Amino acid sequence: MMSSEQIMKRYPKKADYRAYRFDLPCEDKKVYSTEKEAIEASEARMAEHLGLELAVYQCNVCQSWHLTSVNRS
Ligand SMILES: [Zn+2]
Repeated sequence: MMSSEQIMKRYPKKADYRAYRFDLPCEDKKVYSTEKEAIEASEARMAEHLGLELAVYQCNVCQSWHLTSVNRS
């Protein structure tokens, strides 16, 4: 007969499912499903905030579009 301690060792409490959360880095970012949508959103934001320069890019993690700020040089 196995003790409860032996069972705990065979079945670890926490499964490491986080490794499969590929969307994790995008959680705090706004997601746009199309490039057009992202460009429109970036133009609206740039109109609100003078001096702000935004670029859109397709994310290779979630395959959606995000905005990123660009430093003017
Ligand atoms: Zn993403």
